[in-house]
Amino acid sequence: MGAFKEAGWEWDFRWRRPLFDNEIEMAVSFLSDVTQSTIQAHKGDQWEWKADPSGQYTVKSAYLVLWEELSEQQQDGAFEELWKLKLPSKFVIFAWRLIRDRLPTRVNLNRRQIQVGELTCPFCGGEEESAGHLFLQCGKIISVWWESLSWVGLSGVFPNHPRQHFIQHIHGMVEGVRSSKWKRWWLALTWSIWQQRNNIIFSNGSFDANRILDNAVFLLWTWLTNLEKDFNMHFNYWSSNIRAAFLNRGG
Ligand SMILES: [Zn+2]
Repeated sequence: MGAFKEAGWEWDFRWRRPLFDNEIEMAVSFLSDVTQSTIQAHKGDQWEWKADPSGQYTVKSAYLVLWEELSEQQQDGAFEELWKLKLPSKFVIFAWRLIRDRLPTRVNLNRRQIQVGELTCPFCGGEEESAGHLFLQCGKIISVWWESLSWVGLSGVFPNHPRQHFIQHIHGMVEGVRSSKWKRWWLALTWSIWQQRNNIIFSNGSFDANRILDNAVFLLWTWLTNLEKDFNMHFNYWSSNIRAAFLNRGG
């Protein structure tokens, strides 16, 4: 139950361990492959989708596997909210891992007895790199959140766990904020933070708060361009009027 099986290789949802980035890429590409085509048995490797008695992958059975996993979690609507944003699966899976604190931060890797050398946050070098610190509490990152909150007239104290932060973000909206846009903003910004973190750790990059914001704004714009039929604003115009972009009614 709940596992993909291939000759000599198995990935079980029930291990409940965090997936590494290369594994998640594998899972995402597998899921997108099987939804697009019938599995070719003569190709050698044979996949068996064990979540369905027929062995065939169905969206419903995948949803049930995820749902089953979720049902052991606190039921706060976070998963449904993510699912409803209709974003490409790699972003949804990223956010879901963040919300469940399953990203391979240095603290999480260390907890799993994986040698990471140092535990410190690659942004500030001061505190340990937990998800709560890296994404929310780090002195270098908090100003990035404040900046975007100011666009919609919000300020305040953050919960220090990503799950609570996400819930507060999607529910604590001021009137007039374009809600799906604002919800997607959380994903765009956390994704951009994670990309810069990886760039620093793996490619010797340096911290740049403006680049985190710029990349997140661009990512959100590409989503809106692809997802909203009536959205056809030029990027330069839209991004230089970002406050208005969030405060327009609807969407
Ligand atoms: Zn830090």
